[in-house]
Amino acid sequence: MNNTIYIFAWGNNPQRAKLKGRACKILEQDTPNSSEVVFVDTGEHEIVSHRALRPIRCRDCGDPLIEIDFNRAYCLRLCDNFHCRLYGEPQGLRERSKQEGKAFRQRRQMKIVMRFTAGQGIKEVNPDRQQANIRRKARPGYRPWLEKKKENYHKLRDLGYSCKDAINNSSKKRMIELGVGVN
Ligand SMILES: [Zn+2]
Repeated sequence: MNNTIYIFAWGNNPQRAKLKGRACKILEQDTPNSSEVVFVDTGEHEIVSHRALRPIRCRDCGDPLIEIDFNRAYCLRLCDNFHCRLYGEPQGLRERSKQEGKAFRQRRQMKIVMRFTAGQGIKEVNPDRQQANIRRKARPGYRPWLEKKKENYHKLRDLGYSCKDAINNSSKKRMIELGVGVN
């Protein structure tokens, strides 16, 4: 299958209106003007005209983007032109299905819960984890590290980042990547 991703652009009758704006991939070319496509969100197969399909273009070189499976939950859209500056860099993502996306988020949430509690829906603190956390906080580098993170957080907040973005980007590495507060 050709992995180039297209958006169906026509909506001038009820049948087409249902497909408008949705992403699809070409399965095979039936005639010079029309192909069988599969819509990526529901897996429906349709035979549509080539003129109804618009590729999603790369931000840098303008080539059509392709879609690859990233993990069980997500697909990434990226540029396949080797000479492009953004070659292989993600330029968008899609949940492979509503269910898979949800399951992925739940597993991730579960992992976070497991880090701090006994798991299995038990809300009490996991003693092993608690001890590990106490040891981590007792290390000599912990306080300076935390102070630096807080400082970076406030620096980012002053620059107009949201709380969530400021938390996620407050590490030294991310600050250098963003080009702010290098010291
Ligand atoms: Zn490109």
